[in-house]
Amino acid sequence: MTERAPIYLDNHATTPVDPRVVDAMLPYLTTFYGNPASRQHGFGWRAEAGVQKARRQVAALIHAEENEIIFTSGATESINLALKGVAEGYRSRGNHIVTVETEHHAVLGTCQTLERVGFSVTRLAVDRNGHVSVDDLERAITDRTILVSVMVANNEIGTLAPIDAIGKLCRERGILFHSDAAQAVGKVPVDVRSMNVDLLSLTAHKIYGPKGVGALFVRKSGPRIFLAPQIEGGGHEEGLRSGTLNVPGIVGFGEAAALASLEMDHERERVGGLRDKLEDGLVSRVEDIALNGDRTERLSGNLSITFRGVKADKLIMDMKEIAVSTGSACSSASPRPSHVLRAIGLSDEDSHCTIRFGVGRFTKEDEIDYTINRIAEVVGRIRKTSPTQYLALS
Ligand SMILES: *Cc1c(COP(=O)(O)O)cnc(C)c1O
Repeated sequence: MTERAPIYLDNHATTPVDPRVVDAMLPYLTTFYGNPASRQHGFGWRAEAGVQKARRQVAALIHAEENEIIFTSGATESINLALKGVAEGYRSRGNHIVTVETEHHAVLGTCQTLERVGFSVTRLAVDRNGHVSVDDLERAITDRTILVSVMVANNEIGTLAPIDAIGKLCRERGILFHSDAAQAVGKVPVDVRSMNVDLLSLTAHKIYGPKGVGALFVRKSGPRIFLAPQIEGGGHEEGLRSGTLNVPGIVGFGEAAALASLEMDHERERVGGLRDKLEDGLVSRVEDIALNGDRTERLSGNLSITFRGVKADKLIMDMKEIAVSTGSACSSASPRPSHVLRAIGLSDEDSHCTIRFGVGRFTKEDEIDYTINRIAEVVGRIRKTSPTQYLALS
């Protein structure tokens, strides 16, 4: 078991940069290094052309117009701009926001901040599989509601939300709709027009692009959305996000988006096949485990499993060559159980025994075979060596 190349199964936390993306980026670090805001020479024009191409590529992936894409430093910043920008820009219309208990901390934390400045926030519960009910959402809406924020795909359990129905409801009621699509974009089809999304947050590093670059889709028509900027300065990005653009990052994001547009269907099948193999293998080889998230309405690379009586920290430590995670990377610095697992009804004990696997573009079949065997072996050993703890649960 020694000296095996490490296996990366944490593609929800981040993904490696695709070599084709690196190739697209390199000239913008060394040759076309101008500032796209420099309008007086060719260095600026070349950089600007790279950014415009990327804007088209990212827009195409979500069926938006080019001028509806605002480049940011990632989904966290996009979410902050969307929520705070609407709160500030539409304050005269109302002060109520509806979201869901299982959202990413970027959404939940921003909502908490808005509560401190006079907004009221409803956090909808989810069912056992992580689904939010559109009826619950409809009941939560008041004449003070200005914004609904629901993610397309959950980053821990992979559950996909009924975005079409939510978008339709929000449009009928004249309420703005933001969706965090960081995990979904490039993995499942996302169409901001047919889904009636007004604001959509995305990030490059979850789709085999570089870290530190993302975008916010801001609808320009039907209706046009007016956000209050949260970072002010030179007026870049339609005045919504000042600061010199991260040109190589943006170019890489564009290339990653173009590759995702081309390869999504094929990749979804391949990645889904490997995930199913991992799931079936673990279910047949390891006793007393439970799968979290929806069986079908789920990201193809996602697998969240509770190994009853086996602490996830211990399991991860005993198979260091396999990179997986407990809950989300964003909160794994804290020992508190995951808010998502709690929301779907897991006890704290079961939460601490849960592992998230994220299969991705570069996962190989033999890595899945190895992982199944290794986990079966390590879980068996842990349960045998601390049987009192395990049996106490049964
Ligand atoms: C990764 C992630 C984010 C944060 O994106 P960054 O680009 O890392 O800021 C937000 N929401 C979801 C669902 C994510 O998976």
